[in-house]
Amino acid sequence: MPYVVGLTGGIGSGKTVVADAFAELGVEIADADAAAHAVSARGEPGHAAVIEAFGPQARAADGGLDRGWLRRTVFADPVARARLEALLHPLILARLAAEIAAWRGPYGILSVPLLFERGNLTSRVARVLVVDCPEDVQVARVTARSGLAAEEVRAIMAAQLPRAQRLARADDVIDNGGPLAALAPQVTRLHALYRDLAARFALEPARGSEGQ
Ligand code: ATP
Repeated sequence: MPYVVGLTGGIGSGKTVVADAFAELGVEIADADAAAHAVSARGEPGHAAVIEAFGPQARAADGGLDRGWLRRTVFADPVARARLEALLHPLILARLAAEIAAWRGPYGILSVPLLFERGNLTSRVARVLVVDCPEDVQVARVTARSGLAAEEVRAIMAAQLPRAQRLARADDVIDNGGPLAALAPQVTRLHALYRDLAARFALEPARGSEGQ
């Protein structure tokens, strides 16, 4: 059983740049967002299931899912959100489990933006790494990247766990409030720690996940 480090953080906190930094060190990454896309891509079981449940409006002009329409629909309607999640989550979990089972390194990273909010993957991770930066910095980075208005970003942040609660549940924190260059030393230190923890976990899996 591989040692799995869960990577999470609020919108725009820097999960992708941090995952990329670990990947450069040869660490394998499984990504819940990518898995969600993959299982609902055209021709995949999640695609047909969503169109059957939500109707032709869920289909974009190119035949793929209209992800913008779906996002708006479930954002406004908790019942619709639950229906979508019930369809896709089992497929996503199975895909991630298969990816993790294929890892070759001593540990890998499972990137899950809503790890704490959803809760359905917390039991799969031995340790949680939170990427953190001040909320104003999150807003500035996301507006610069996506063209979303600051209020839209703040509305998304309001639907996520508050920063202090996320930090309280972290085993490790990467401070991404500074320049990109400040990430490498933090990632290098954690890489050494995770290799150590993974080596212990390989000897005694039950103890390796103790105290989380
Ligand atoms: P999302 O939650 O939207 O998937 P994320 O947590 O994966 O976002 P990134 O995509 O890694 O966050 O970073 C958000 C944006 O901020 C990107 O455009 C990225 O290039 C930029 N960024 C991340 N960290 C820094 C930094 N330390 N300095 C400057 N820009 C940064």
